[in-house]
Amino acid sequence: MKCSMCNRPAITFIRRVKKYFCEEHFLQFVLKQVRRYLEKHGIRRKKILIAVSGGKDSMVMLHTLKMLSEDFKLDITPFYINLGITGYSDPCESVVREVSEELELTPIIISLREYAGYTIDDAARIERKKPCSTCGTVKRYITNRIAYEGGYDYVATGHTMIDEFAFALHNLYSGSIDTFLRSYEITDTRKDLKLVGRIKPLYYLLESETLTYAIVNKIKYCNLECPYAQGHPTQVHKEIGLMGEYRLQGYVQRILSSLNKLKKMIPERPDNNIRFCKICGYPTVTDICKYCRLKAKFSRE
Ligand SMILES: [Zn+2]
Ligand SMILES: [Zn+2]
Repeated sequence: MKCSMCNRPAITFIRRVKKYFCEEHFLQFVLKQVRRYLEKHGIRRKKILIAVSGGKDSMVMLHTLKMLSEDFKLDITPFYINLGITGYSDPCESVVREVSEELELTPIIISLREYAGYTIDDAARIERKKPCSTCGTVKRYITNRIAYEGGYDYVATGHTMIDEFAFALHNLYSGSIDTFLRSYEITDTRKDLKLVGRIKPLYYLLESETLTYAIVNKIKYCNLECPYAQGHPTQVHKEIGLMGEYRLQGYVQRILSSLNKLKKMIPERPDNNIRFCKICGYPTVTDICKYCRLKAKFSRE
């Protein structure tokens, strides 16, 4: 098969746009999707903390933002939290260090053990259950805090269209309507609330596309899956998205776009409950924030 743009041999077919791509035109296609996101949300001359896990999508995000950083005048810093998950966190940290160095970027690396006094393995052992919700809380909290203290305009995360789809479905599945309604393509920075906005530069890409991009560019990434992620319902929702995408053209994008339209029809409710944590001073809806409560619980044992 030949590239739909030129006459060179195609390396991939992208069903949702019904086109064959050669290596060069495929790379252009991926960068175009990231550009489209940055342009749509006016992300130019911004200081961005790039939250990476070492996995494929986050390393691709780092690479594409580096490629576009001159055009968009972005000041970017990779950011990794070593959560202390045995057999997973250390190899991923090495990949983050290596790729950052190749891209001539200086990463900020935080160890949860040093920062909070415990690891995610500790949390799992003490609670005797999957630590995914603790992990989510500490990652969100620490990332926001480091970004706020460092004067960053945005935190970038490597969520692709499939992740967004799975997240939306998971919230609907578990009845977390508020979380569902509050999830957007972008969230704005609220300095008054000490909240740094979040962007998702891979929002218009599918995982099969980030995988091809990683292979073509020989981008190193940590191929390990978090041991606690296995069997999480989110995996099922991802599979539904992938199956839909395989059988129906543009399935994921269409569903997401309809859900986004639906969200816009529901008026935003102001968060009157937001106050500042009595211990750390960061926003919360209770007197003591969840992060500080977790820290008290896990770091003393
Ligand atoms: Zn071509
Ligand atoms: Zn707190």
